[in-house]
Amino acid sequence: MHDISLVLLAAGSSSRFAASVKKQWLRIEEKPLWQFVADRFENFNLFNQILITASTEEIPYMQYHGEYTLIEGGNSRQESLLNALQHIQSEYVLVSDVARPCIDEATLKRLLEQKKNYDVVVPYLPVSDTVIYDKQTIDRTKVKLIQTPQLSKTSTLKKALNTKTEYTDESSAIVAAGGKRGFVKGSKSAHKLTFKEDIAQLPCIRPPANVTLSGSGFDVHEFDVTKSYLWLCGEKIECGYGFKAHSDGDVAIHALIDALLGACGMGDIGELFPDTDETYAGIDSKKLLQEVLGRVRSFGFELVNIDLTIIAQQPKIAPYKEQFRKRLANICNLPPHRVNIKATTTEKLGFIGRKEGVGVMANTNLKYYDWMK
Ligand code: MG
Repeated sequence: MHDISLVLLAAGSSSRFAASVKKQWLRIEEKPLWQFVADRFENFNLFNQILITASTEEIPYMQYHGEYTLIEGGNSRQESLLNALQHIQSEYVLVSDVARPCIDEATLKRLLEQKKNYDVVVPYLPVSDTVIYDKQTIDRTKVKLIQTPQLSKTSTLKKALNTKTEYTDESSAIVAAGGKRGFVKGSKSAHKLTFKEDIAQLPCIRPPANVTLSGSGFDVHEFDVTKSYLWLCGEKIECGYGFKAHSDGDVAIHALIDALLGACGMGDIGELFPDTDETYAGIDSKKLLQEVLGRVRSFGFELVNIDLTIIAQQPKIAPYKEQFRKRLANICNLPPHRVNIKATTTEKLGFIGRKEGVGVMANTNLKYYDWMK
């Protein structure tokens, strides 16, 4: 084992590959991209430590994907890297972007061979096309396309990045601080995944697993006779009573949120929106649902269908079924036939039968967003 740590930068919140999905959460078979890359580096057996920088909101969910050292990222690439460097004692550090998933072992070995000769070693690609810079044709043999990962002396990199100037790579910071930069031959497999057309140049990646993930949710709310209306499936019903609740009490949306969180393995509604938090006092549950849908999509999932069972002795649900279906289909961006509303009573048994409240069961299915199609 070499005296080298790896920092994998996965904190980029703006790196959205598709309209709604964060790049680091695109699936390669069952693995999110960040995990696929971390595992790949681990298999090279070259690092004594692997640190992954991630945004604060993603860290709890990332922890369910395996044993990794996750470091809270900062507001920029440089800040995230500095946060990670604080945890590194090894003499050298390799920094890689999660968006270069197919980096090959041969390039890594070329970097390692030169580590004692420079403060930073970078892979590059030569240019075979004619290069024109501002109307001037320049000597292409002097042009280098710089890639990552780059291998730096940890102490030199820490000092070089401790500045307000923002650098786009480690070697620029080290050179600006007076350090020595070495070059080794790069690789086409270090190609960066930014757009769909990049997929063809990344031989190691595979489509997401074709699996369906199902989730279920259940919620009950008690009636409040001092209120004159209630919310159900995002619709206002003027029935002469409402629900007791910290939020607007939309029991159907709450059950649906739990089903969605269940399918992704993201816990439950109480963890996400605690009823002790004043932010959520009287909140419109449609807003909570929209926030959860945004999260579900940004973490690489796509909704397949929703099925709700509303258990109520009162109010009568049948007259509202189509209205509910349309409203939920609209919020969830699903065609109406993928949203089903069922209504039942408890034959006057129990608290629901005594007209004390309403219960809702929700089921949903998700699949991984197919980013390669
Ligand atoms: Mg509730």
